[in-house]
Amino acid sequence: MDETVAPDGVREWRRSPGGLVSALHPSLAHTQATWVGWTGALDAAPELPDLAGVRLRAVPLSKVDFEEYYEGFANSTLWPLYHDATEQPVYHRRWWESYQRVNRRFAEAAAEAAPPNATVWIHDYHLQLVPAMLRGLRPDVRIGFFMHIPFPPAELFMQLPRRNDLLYGLLGADLVGFQDQYGARNFTQLASRVLGLPVRHPEIEVNGRVVRVGAFPNSIDMADMEALARRDEVVKRAAQIREDLGNPEKIILGVDRLDYTKGIEQRLKAYRELLSDGRVKVQDTVMVQVAVPSRERVAHYRILRDRVEREVGRINGEFGRVGVAAIHYLINQSFDRTELAALYRAADVMMITPLRDGMNLVAKEYVASRVDVSGALVLSEFAGAAGELTDAYLVNPHDLDGLKDTLVRVLEASTGDTSRRMRMMRRHVRAHDVRAWAQSYLSALHDASGLGRLVL
Ligand code: UDP
Repeated sequence: MDETVAPDGVREWRRSPGGLVSALHPSLAHTQATWVGWTGALDAAPELPDLAGVRLRAVPLSKVDFEEYYEGFANSTLWPLYHDATEQPVYHRRWWESYQRVNRRFAEAAAEAAPPNATVWIHDYHLQLVPAMLRGLRPDVRIGFFMHIPFPPAELFMQLPRRNDLLYGLLGADLVGFQDQYGARNFTQLASRVLGLPVRHPEIEVNGRVVRVGAFPNSIDMADMEALARRDEVVKRAAQIREDLGNPEKIILGVDRLDYTKGIEQRLKAYRELLSDGRVKVQDTVMVQVAVPSRERVAHYRILRDRVEREVGRINGEFGRVGVAAIHYLINQSFDRTELAALYRAADVMMITPLRDGMNLVAKEYVASRVDVSGALVLSEFAGAAGELTDAYLVNPHDLDGLKDTLVRVLEASTGDTSRRMRMMRRHVRAHDVRAWAQSYLSALHDASGLGRLVL
């Protein structure tokens, strides 16, 4: 939740952007659950209103926690390491102290909020110690953990100075869920190789208890996204966007948090070279790049923003004309869902080119909003979504020539080809929406809890 203050001074709470919130909110609405989380505000732990039947309980972070736990260990150590070390992970001993302290605070808040024998579902890399801490405080509760980002292979994970503590933290859960089989395999291999625990994939034995591991690719609320995309105001707004862009033949769209894992620079470079080679012309094609600022005080992110903005300036300077931009770069505090749906509907080609991404829900949102079964998705092989959306135009974002050729191929593709692919992808997302994800996870958690010893 983010608190916003309107010009008239009225304060209100808004859902923050990002995959985790988008995935969880529809699964929890009207379930009587309590959501324990951080509001994004420092120090204060305000009383929060219920959100669609979900009780909200805020855990406070101080300025030091924010710097050392959130910006530090979570986003400067774990985030880059878990994303293939796309940027160099940074290690500081005092960040680890903060990570432990804040995890303990969350475990205590969950222990207090959970009724007897409750199910507690812990989410993401910020809270990997909570499962074991909570088990210590509340042995009666069933504990699930889900990792929304990739989980790295042993070669990378073993860099972590406190790797054993993190593994034992996760092993406090009854079920540890990952976005794909690679993450699940990496985890069981680490339990065996680093901790020497008895393992029979997908099960690990620890302290006489069996922990189950599994892949549960997460998803979006397809029906809700489709209904939004069909709304009159969205259809009108999409037409307006096309008109404002000068009714080009093709609109290419990118929507990303401004993060070095998202491959924004690779995409821009490919586009610049295509304009320079004359294979794409500004009078026919326009690119729109939505970039949501993120983790702005972390150095890697500031450097990335400068580099992206320099590249956008260069492309517009070289290829734009008076009144015609080659790229429309929208750096906004975040668009609301209606505006995003209109952008998705207006775009002929969606370009998603992460170097590594746990899932990438934007890819699924684009597919869901193409209710007329048109539009093409260019998708990196290194996004979790590529394991499911195999009918996308898959690309390796490191291969600039391949990326350029695919983009040209997509711009020239027949509607027969694009609609066949879109139909298959829409079928997949419909059958595997966020409710199916939550149900399959929770039923696996139910089966996993209280398992005895492993029979090897
Ligand atoms: N999003 C948003 N406003 C924006 C841009 C993105 O609300 O201006 C949402 C988007 O709809 C999606 C989420 O943020 O649900 C991004 O999730 P994704 O899995 O693609 O990437 P993440 O940011 O979690 O790495």
